[in-house]
Amino acid sequence: MNDHRLATDTDDGLVLIISGPSGAGKTTITRGVERSIPGSVFSVSCTTRAKTEADVEGVDYHFVSDEEFERLRASGEFLESAGVYGKKYGTPRAWVHEQIKRGRLVILEIDVQGAVQVKKHLPDAFAIFILPPSEDELLARLQSRKRESEALIAARFAAAKSEIASARASGVYDVFLVNADLDEAIARAVDLVVSERRRRRETRAAVRTP
Ligand code: 5GP
Repeated sequence: MNDHRLATDTDDGLVLIISGPSGAGKTTITRGVERSIPGSVFSVSCTTRAKTEADVEGVDYHFVSDEEFERLRASGEFLESAGVYGKKYGTPRAWVHEQIKRGRLVILEIDVQGAVQVKKHLPDAFAIFILPPSEDELLARLQSRKRESEALIAARFAAAKSEIASARASGVYDVFLVNADLDEAIARAVDLVVSERRRRRETRAAVRTP
């Protein structure tokens, strides 16, 4: 693993997984953590879902065809991949490994299926699951976005509840963080990551010092 180290490589690299149901505020929290922690990078996934007006190619996702996605998956380009709402999503393996070597905080905003796969390959990854304060609040948030039909909102609500249940059952999350207030949730997530990195740095130093 250490054969090809560059002068810029450090041991400080950490993979941060952030998951949570739609409507829990996960994307805002993810971007808040990225802005607050110097040297952090957001992993841009490949997806087969359609690009919306809010999406920027190469910033939010790499939008690819189904054929391209399958070609990438077959050639082992993904660290993990999963089907979400009938569309495919995958995390670029080589890029993530490169960033870890550079000592970056590599943020993966992925679902529970993806988190389980990443933890299998990278057990040191730190995983946070964002929870809404309550089911009623989650439903209210999904309804307030007004961009979706009642049927779609009901489907997202059911999916959110089952995502929370599978996150709890998966055993891969280090922390379940309740988002009652966005600024507080971002501050708490930043604090958790900073403390975790410091703890790991101290453990490494203690191992090196006889
Ligand atoms: P959206 O299409 O709304 O941006 O994302 C839908 C869901 O897919 C979210 O739960 C998001 O976290 C998840 N997701 C996004 N990228 C990836 C990925 O690369 N891998 C996995 N497993 N899930 C992803």
